[in-house]
Amino acid sequence: MTHQQQILRRRCWIFDLDGTLTLAVHDFAAIRAALGMTDNDPDILRFLASLPAAEAAARHSRLIEIEYELAARTAAAPGAIRLLDLLSRRGSQVGILTRNTREIALHTLTQVGLRHFFAPEAILGRDEAAPKPHPEGIAMLLDAWGSRPDDAVMVGDYLFDLQVGRAAGTATIHVDSSSAFRWPELADLAVATLDELAEGLTA
Ligand SMILES: [Mg+2]
Repeated sequence: MTHQQQILRRRCWIFDLDGTLTLAVHDFAAIRAALGMTDNDPDILRFLASLPAAEAAARHSRLIEIEYELAARTAAAPGAIRLLDLLSRRGSQVGILTRNTREIALHTLTQVGLRHFFAPEAILGRDEAAPKPHPEGIAMLLDAWGSRPDDAVMVGDYLFDLQVGRAAGTATIHVDSSSAFRWPELADLAVATLDELAEGLTA
């Protein structure tokens, strides 16, 4: 069996949401500007946590407004339904680890027609677990499933998704529609679309 097949056979699949299961609509540079971020730290949640409480609360509300606007504009990523359908038929565990909130994640999943694939308790947002790349969320999901990192994969489109998989000891799959694959050292598999993973599962 190839290395790729071994990874695809793993039973626990943890997905990033925005830009991974959905089409990328987040213009993070614009979001940072709207929140008044001027330095080069890309981490929005860390920035908000660094502000005085009143200021943080106001910008958090703005962030949530922006996230709802984005949820209304996105759609399921190519291959998402096919892949989740295959995993569900195979009896795999599936979960989501997002730096968004669980509430917005549920809203987004409903909007794009993927809601029925996920148990609500398997969707961890920034209020349920320490934000990626902290591995707490993956540990919580695997614990709930009675599983281990060597039977799990973390799938995502951004650096934090690959870092969190590495930190938790899962395999990592980078989905990048541009095929630029900026972090090859952190990705066990790299694909342009979720369809490629679905192909691999049926091969
Ligand atoms: Mg993402």
